[in-house]
Amino acid sequence: MLPNVSLFGKNDLLYLDEIGQMQLLSNGFKKLVLKYLDAPNTCLATISSIFEDDFTRLVKGRDDVILVTISEEDRAEKQSFVTQLIRKIEKARKYVSEPDRFIQNGDDIELHSEHNVRRLRLEKNGWSCNCDFFMKYRICSHTIATEETRRSFQAAYDAEFS
Ligand SMILES: [Zn+2]
Repeated sequence: MLPNVSLFGKNDLLYLDEIGQMQLLSNGFKKLVLKYLDAPNTCLATISSIFEDDFTRLVKGRDDVILVTISEEDRAEKQSFVTQLIRKIEKARKYVSEPDRFIQNGDDIELHSEHNVRRLRLEKNGWSCNCDFFMKYRICSHTIATEETRRSFQAAYDAEFS
């Protein structure tokens, strides 16, 4: 039995628990997972780190999925990080909807955030940023927004020139 998910609002945070347990046997559950992940909403999901199959690999490998590994020892710290990360994602979505905030400057991107100009640079492992949150966690609203904005530019470019 699956809940009716057609009724969620556009600002609702979607939540999925324990992808990769018994539910995986059900195609209905897989469809629900993809529906949540494809929705424009922010979706928080937990996924087993032990059980793995094609479906869980697909979920974990998506461009729009940020994977946070939580262990027994760092559970409290990571939960607080995830709570902050959800707020950063909401912020990032706002930036993405306001492309005038992004200015290319040589190899760097300047992101004009609410109170500051953030400098972003593409490194081997993805974008880096000069804000404090990035220094601590290696991810921030600015890197999420820049990655997402670049991806949509790239998709538009590919569509036009392929
Ligand atoms: Zn930043």
